Amino acid sequence: MDYFKYNKGELFAEDVSVEKIAVGAGTPVYIYSKATMLDHFEKLKKAFAKLDTTICYSIKACGNINILKILADAGSGFDIVSGGELYRAQQAGADMKKTVFAGVGKTDEEILAALKAEIGYFNIESEAELENLINLAKQAGKKTKAALRVNPDVDPKTHKHITTGTKETKFGVDIERAEKVFEQYGKNDYVNLCAIHVHLGSGGKTIDPYCEAIKKVLPLIDTLRGKGFKIEMIDLGGGYGADYQTGTVPTAADYANGIVPLLKDKNLKLVLEPGKSIMANAGILLTKVLYLKQGGSKKFVIVDAGMNDLIRPWLYDAFHFIWPARVEERFSFLKRTDKLDIKGLEFVDIVGPICEGTDFFAKDRAIPPVKRGDLISIFTAGAYGFTMASNYNARLLPAEVLVDGKNFKVIRKRQNYEEMVAPERLR
Ligand SMILES: *Cc1c(COP(=O)(O)O)cnc(C)c1O
Repeated sequence: MDYFKYNKGELFAEDVSVEKIAVGAGTPVYIYSKATMLDHFEKLKKAFAKLDTTICYSIKACGNINILKILADAGSGFDIVSGGELYRAQQAGADMKKTVFAGVGKTDEEILAALKAEIGYFNIESEAELENLINLAKQAGKKTKAALRVNPDVDPKTHKHITTGTKETKFGVDIERAEKVFEQYGKNDYVNLCAIHVHLGSGGKTIDPYCEAIKKVLPLIDTLRGKGFKIEMIDLGGGYGADYQTGTVPTAADYANGIVPLLKDKNLKLVLEPGKSIMANAGILLTKVLYLKQGGSKKFVIVDAGMNDLIRPWLYDAFHFIWPARVEERFSFLKRTDKLDIKGLEFVDIVGPICEGTDFFAKDRAIPPVKRGDLISIFTAGAYGFTMASNYNARLLPAEVLVDGKNFKVIRKRQNYEEMVAPERLR
């Protein structure tokens, strides 16, 4: 479900024509729909209402402070993975008690800043990190809580670069070792190790890995409680499916139907860390056709966005549905699949201007015919889109726009050349 729709062949974000946004903000531009993100957030909240659940939106998916503020106002907490994301959460007025801090390589500065901010939980990835946290907490005279990230050795059957819950990854500790960690550090005055964290990786298409992971972790929690450790919370991480292709992923209610019965009556608080399931289809990347080019039997559509703006197609073999912003009435639909078999479409490669063969958005993709100057929308680009953008090829970071009903506003100005080189000026 999202609020990007065609009306008489013209693409709208909520009630605003995206052409109008392109005129106001230029291209390439990320366009987010407030109603869509809030809809995803509320559905998840409702689905898990039977448990004492805190939703900690994962800032790395889309971290614009205006987006974070909307989610914070709706009651969301945050999952952060760096001092920079802590800063973003603070600038958005986040409730620090609802903030969890994950990551295998937290620096002392980042840990001290999070201790000072009095965040909810540190998600601990190794004994060495826990020892360091204990030392720093003692030094700073700050008490805190921590969750031990365990590795349930469950494979969500997704792309190898985004699988994080199997044994051969750098994340968390093996479930067998978790008990030893609690025995050694579980009764500390400064760091209260009182929760278990699992994060399986992203983009799984079924709920099974989550249920499997819970079934592996619950016996551990029982054992730990039996030994006198107070376990108050389980954090199931993120990775809930987002609708990149129509109807291919479980809904929030589907996840809850599997997960809630397993955790009911266990006297555990629940934390969820959704990223892309909140933001992915709440955003599009709008880009303009620069040139058409024939290369052998292939037709290329060269657009003004590049892999520096959206790297997912190359990095993860990610599918993004792509469709022109203005189409004939008969193409006025959003059936998000790469298997469109309709008369009148052309098969093209949609590529960016960067000097790399990896700079593409889609290959052999059927789209309605386009010409120079047309606008094209790359859908489900709201998560891991702008946050992964770079200045490669000295291309400027794109603008971000937020749509709310009939209104839109630029929530991040397009970078300019001087801003790009300013940190390099020596005086
Ligand atoms: C990346 C990440 C998330 C969010 O993942 P999504 O696939 O965007 O839901 C949540 N928790 C942790 C620890 C992560 O690393």
